[in-house]
Amino acid sequence: MGVGLLVVIGKQGAGKGTQCSRLAERYHVPHVATGDMLRAAVRSGSDLGNRVRSIMDEGHLVPDDLITDVVAARLAEPDAAHGAVLDGYPRTQAQAIALEGIAAPRGIARCILLDVATDVVVRRLSARRVCSNCGWVFSADPPPGPSECTNCGGPVVQRADDTPEAIEERLLAYEQETAPLLEHYREAGILSIVDGDGTLDEVFEKLVAVVDAVHS
Ligand code: ADP
Repeated sequence: MGVGLLVVIGKQGAGKGTQCSRLAERYHVPHVATGDMLRAAVRSGSDLGNRVRSIMDEGHLVPDDLITDVVAARLAEPDAAHGAVLDGYPRTQAQAIALEGIAAPRGIARCILLDVATDVVVRRLSARRVCSNCGWVFSADPPPGPSECTNCGGPVVQRADDTPEAIEERLLAYEQETAPLLEHYREAGILSIVDGDGTLDEVFEKLVAVVDAVHS
C-alpha cells in the first residue's frame, strides 16, 4: 500500500531537496519537487518555462493554478500510485486546499516541518552553488567552492534566486504564505516537526523515524 503522500515543509535552504530525495529513494516513491520541475521547464524553454522564468528569478511564487496543474498531473502518474514525497508544494493556502482534492480519498499521510533557524538558512543559501547541468548542490562555504560538478563535470553556478534580494523575498513569502499552513496540519493531527540542524545523516534518521512511526 506504500508510504502515502508525505508533505515536507521548510524554509528555503532547510535541506528539503536533499532529504526529500533520500526519503523518496528509501520508500520507493517519486520525489516531486516543484522548484526542480519548474527549473527543468525553464531550461527546456517550454511554454511553462517561459511563463515562470522571470517570476522565479525574482524570488516570487508562481500562480497557484499553474503549479497546482503541474503537481496534479505528476501525482496522477502511475509511479505515484502508492505515495510521493512532495517538496515545495503546498506553499499557499489556496494550494493546500487544492491538495486536499488531489490527495483524496487517501489524504496526506504526514506533513513534516524541517525546522531550521533563519540565520542558518540565509548563510546556507548565500553559499549555495548548483550544477547547471545535473542540478547537484554544492556549498561555497568555505569560498570559493567547486567550479566544476563532481557528478557530471558541468559548470557550477549560483542560482539566479540566491541573490540577497531574492533570498529575502523568498523567506518573506515563506513566513507570510507557507508558515501559516502548519497550523492547519497541526489541527488535523498530521504535523511532525524535525530539527533540521544537524548532519545530513542525523536529520535523515529523524525523518525516517517519523515516517516509520506513521506506518507501524
Ligand atoms: P526555494 O524553496 O529555495 O525557493 P524551490 O526550488 O523549491 O526553491 O523553488 C524555486 C522557485 O520555484 C520558487 O521561488 C517559486 O518561484 C517557484 N515555486 C516552486 N514551488 C512553488 C509553489 N508551490 N508555488 C509557487 N511557486 C513555486
